[in-house]
Parts: sequence; C-alpha cells; structure tokens
Amino acid sequence: MSDSNTLAITGGTPISNEPLKCPHWPPTVQATADRLAEVYMSRQWSFNSPSELEFAQAFADYHGAKHGIFMANGTVTLQCALKACGVGPGDEVIVPALTWMATALAAHYVGAIPVFVDVELDTLCLDPKLVEQAITEKTKAIIPVHLYGSTADLEAINAIAKKHDLRVIEDCAHMHGGTWNGRGVGSWGDVGSFSFQQSKTMASGEGGICITNDDDLAETIHRLKHIGYAAGMAQGEASTDTGPPMGLTCYNFRATAFQAVILHDQLKELKSLIERYEVNAVRLQKRLADVPGIRIQTRGRLSDPQGYYGLIILFDHESVASVPVKTLLKAIAAEGLNLGGTYGPVAEHALFSIKPQNYRIAEGGYPVAKKIGTDRALTLPHPYLGGDDQLIDTIGDILAKVTQNANTLLECPVS
Ligand SMILES: *Cc1c(COP(=O)(O)O)cnc(C)c1O
Repeated sequence: MSDSNTLAITGGTPISNEPLKCPHWPPTVQATADRLAEVYMSRQWSFNSPSELEFAQAFADYHGAKHGIFMANGTVTLQCALKACGVGPGDEVIVPALTWMATALAAHYVGAIPVFVDVELDTLCLDPKLVEQAITEKTKAIIPVHLYGSTADLEAINAIAKKHDLRVIEDCAHMHGGTWNGRGVGSWGDVGSFSFQQSKTMASGEGGICITNDDDLAETIHRLKHIGYAAGMAQGEASTDTGPPMGLTCYNFRATAFQAVILHDQLKELKSLIERYEVNAVRLQKRLADVPGIRIQTRGRLSDPQGYYGLIILFDHESVASVPVKTLLKAIAAEGLNLGGTYGPVAEHALFSIKPQNYRIAEGGYPVAKKIGTDRALTLPHPYLGGDDQLIDTIGDILAKVTQNANTLLECPVS
C-alpha cells in the first residue's frame, strides 16, 4: 500500500526517481580559461604579480577593507592573522566548538591554546553570552566563525573584545560577499580570513586571503606570507633596512597568479550568485516554515545579504527527536536528495589530534555543538542554492515529506 505519504525507504514512491543533480561546482568559464592562458604566457606567475595584487585589492574593496593579502589557503591566513596580532605560546584564543578544525589548528600552530566555546542554538555561530565567561588573563583573541548559512553576532563579539582588550579575527571561510549591518564581513574584526578551497563559495582549488583596515597588521601579514618581503617590494630587493623586524619569523605562504585570475572573475559574479542563494534560501525557508519538526539555522541578524557555504537543516524539535539523524539522512536520500552531516564538535572530529593539555573546553562544555552538530543536523551544500525554483521546491518537498512522516521511521529497520 503505497501513497504519497509513504516514505520511499519504507516502500513508497520517491519524490524524485533519480537522485537530484547538484549544480556543478566549482564553475568553469571559457573567458577565464583564456585569461589563464594569457597569464601563463606572461610568465608573471607569483611573487606579488599584477594579477594577485589586483584581485587582492578588489576583494578587500568589495568587503569594505583597506588591505587584502592573498595567500596559499584559509588556514595559514588565520595563523598569520593571529601571529600579526601578537598571539603566541601560552595565550588563549576563543573559538567556536562547532567549526572546521582549521579555526582551532591555527591557534595551535602559533603555540596558543584554543578554547572551545559553545554556539547559539539558532544561528549555530559562537555564542557571545558564553564568550565573556570563558575569558581568562591569558585570553588574547576571539575567532568568530560565520558558519554555513549564518553570521556570528559581530556587534556583541566586538563589544566584548573592546571591553577586555582582545583581538577579533573573523573566520569568513563560509561567508564570501556577506555583510553585517551594511558592511562586508571580515572588515569588522582586526582581520578577516577567507578560504578559496575547492568547495567554498569562491574557489580556486586552494587559496586564502586576509583583509584588514589596519596598516600595521597588513604590513606584518604581507611579510609573514612572503618570506619577509614587505608589500610592494620586488623579489631580490631586500636589504637590511627593508627586511622584517628581528624575531619575526616569516613563511612562504604565497599563492599564484593563476588562482588570482580565477578568483577575480568569480568576484565579478559574486553579487549575483549570493543574490540567487538568498532568494533560494528564503524560498526553502518559506516552504518548510509550517512543517513542524524541521528548521533551518537562523540567518545573521544584521546580514543583508549574507554569504552561504550551505544551510544547516535541523531536526531538533521533540516531534522528530527520537528518530536518529542517520535514519533521516537515509530516508531523505531514498526520496532523491543526498545530504551530508555537519563537522560536529571540533574536539571530537576524527582528524583532531591536538593533545588535551594543548586545548581547553570552556566551563559548561558545548552541549549545543554536541547535540546539534552530532545528532540533529544535516547540511545542504551551497551549489544546490544556485539551482532553479523547481530544484528548490523538490528539495523542500522531500524534506517536508520525510519530516512529516518521520514517526513511521521508528518502526523501520534502518540502521
Ligand atoms: C575551509 C575552512 C577554513 C580554511 O580552509 P583551507 O582549506 O585551509 O583553505 C577555515 N575555517 C573554516 C570554518 C573553513 O570551513
């Protein structure tokens, strides 16, 4: 007996017979391929080449920051931001308990202690109310992460930082083009850090950028990234007067002109891409608003527009709370939509290997990150948000159907 309410996983008809196609990511454009060929022939491939400098400035401008320092990835950007802010061995850095590991690893790389603080139940971003009580004499910096489809409360976090004389480094790896209260993310903290890794909303395989309004921080980050050279210095032109200050150990964290060319073209499309994502996120939100049992993470309170690395879909309402999220995942897949989980708490990630004496969990632990991040959440990756109305409506129909019939999964032998 199969009707439209019988879930496919229990023998009903799936909403989509074929697995829904996620729009291709990253995008490929012939005009960009042509420009890549030009840069190749120009032999200006690295060392602060014109393509890199032009892209870095355009990206900084877009987000309302004065300087942009283009780098190898979005982990070394965090590492350099911390180091430029004077964070080092023995210092503590407050990070959200729910994020990609890079946020905490960057603190570890500079010898500091990452301190895991829980996230808000609605936005799933760092909870400002818990930040203040996690501060100790050793605290030097806070790294809020604008996670998936939301923005951390920059006003509240900046106010706490000001009161306690702490640095703020925004991890914007998920929030390209996002704004807070009318200004670009990344320009609210001392430094904003972005990643351009393959899966991000701007993608060049690998890459990252620091943006800042602070001339001194920009200067130091430039040197850190480019083995000690200051911004604008040509290769081979270092002298003892123009080198880095004694004790500032610098790195090779350079990216290349090829990545900059890809990203500069993507930047020109960013506004319209994010607008499309916004429209679809709102459309999906509306479709699910009257479905008890399911919710989407709450968008940034003062973000308009915001960026998207995806949307976290939550099943934490009591009506579905007894159905394991793995079962929901399988039921959703059987209807035609393949979703993944979230990162889960950093300190419990399979790849996490920082020794217990080298990190700290703030008092009270991280019940929200643990419960939500591990048990009650799935992630819709951002390329889906680039789809047409029909794709979004089908996703909505699948999520609604599974949620509304979740109770029938309790008898189903899915493990
Ligand atoms: C992707 C990501 C980073 C940096 O990643 P890289 O792979 O090193 O570019 C940092 N923080 C968050 C939250 C991320 O998702």
